[in-house]
Amino acid sequence: MKKYFSIPLFLLLVFMSSAALLAQARTCANCGKTITKDFLEYNGQPYCSQKCFEAALPKCSVCGKSVGEGTKQGEYLKVNGKIFCSDKCFERSLPKCAACGKPAKKQIRSADDVSKVYCSQECYQTSLPKCELCQNPLNSWKEMSGHIYCNQCADLPKCLDCRLPGASIELPDGRHICQACEKEAVISRDQAQKLFEKVRADIKQQLNLSTDHRITFKLVDARELGRITGVTVFSEQGLYSHKWKTYQTAKTKVPDSDTFVIYILSHLTPKYFYNIAAHELAHDIHDAYFPYAKGRELEEGFAEYVSSLMNACWGNDSLNLEKLQNQEKIYAQGYQRFLKIAEKNGLTDVLAYMEKQNKASKPKTIKKKTK
Ligand SMILES: [Zn+2]
Ligand SMILES: [Zn+2]
Ligand SMILES: [Zn+2]
Ligand SMILES: [Zn+2]
Ligand SMILES: [Zn+2]
Ligand SMILES: [Zn+2]
Repeated sequence: MKKYFSIPLFLLLVFMSSAALLAQARTCANCGKTITKDFLEYNGQPYCSQKCFEAALPKCSVCGKSVGEGTKQGEYLKVNGKIFCSDKCFERSLPKCAACGKPAKKQIRSADDVSKVYCSQECYQTSLPKCELCQNPLNSWKEMSGHIYCNQCADLPKCLDCRLPGASIELPDGRHICQACEKEAVISRDQAQKLFEKVRADIKQQLNLSTDHRITFKLVDARELGRITGVTVFSEQGLYSHKWKTYQTAKTKVPDSDTFVIYILSHLTPKYFYNIAAHELAHDIHDAYFPYAKGRELEEGFAEYVSSLMNACWGNDSLNLEKLQNQEKIYAQGYQRFLKIAEKNGLTDVLAYMEKQNKASKPKTIKKKTK
């Protein structure tokens, strides 16, 4: 709020001619001298001289000059109880705009940092975080893995690898991938086969867990995986399949007739590919050593736990945080369950727990007639 005030300049030049009036001797309201001649009056007080009169005037709170000394004589500004001789002095008293440095007349403050003042809405906008995709300043935003987006951009197709919105490449199976991830995505079958074998060898070497199953590895797209699983919205990016033939009559397994297939989605970046491959291979280990320990939470939890150990070996720990946030609750819950089991002795306790589950569920009626 800025208001102009005007000093009532009753510069009354009173001519004292009468001797009788002399008896009413006046004293200067500033210096206290007795006034014998002409005097100036301001706010009903007499002043002996121009100097004393000016001394009585209010002072500019910036430059200290008496108001009324400027060009527009008698005019001054009063803002929030403070007096300014001119617009220039008033502006000098204002805080500087945090964006452009000009005096901030409007004084717009941001909600997060009240110490900062902005001169205009435009300058205030420059202080706001920007949407990573459209660059628009944001008053509210959505955060995804440390990146911020406006509501519209947040709804754009998400990259199948980094999960961030704005993935510009659409694959024939309807999935989207961003340009950065596409550069390193595993697309060729040969490369995928090599990586798969490396993951299997790494698990054997690092965790001492392996099976002699002859696993066929297949790189598939989302449509193919959907056909195989019969599920349209499928949260896993891979699948472990173990099929076995049984004699119709005896219902006993036929040696070497089992088929093991692991499917993994194409276009994963190597670190995601490793993660998924380790997860599916953990299902194979589960199947080989703890075949009676059933239950989805147990199976997915074990696979998530084993793959998390491998992620840590490969330096991809960040993927393990994602495991805890898996939208598919059974995965996150299962993983948490195994983290708890592993609290003291890690994998040793996990394998002991699995063995216990396996034994507890093992059918006790089976009697082998091998005498
Ligand atoms: Zn005086
Ligand atoms: Zn001034
Ligand atoms: Zn500004
Ligand atoms: Zn945006
Ligand atoms: Zn991406
Ligand atoms: Zn699984």
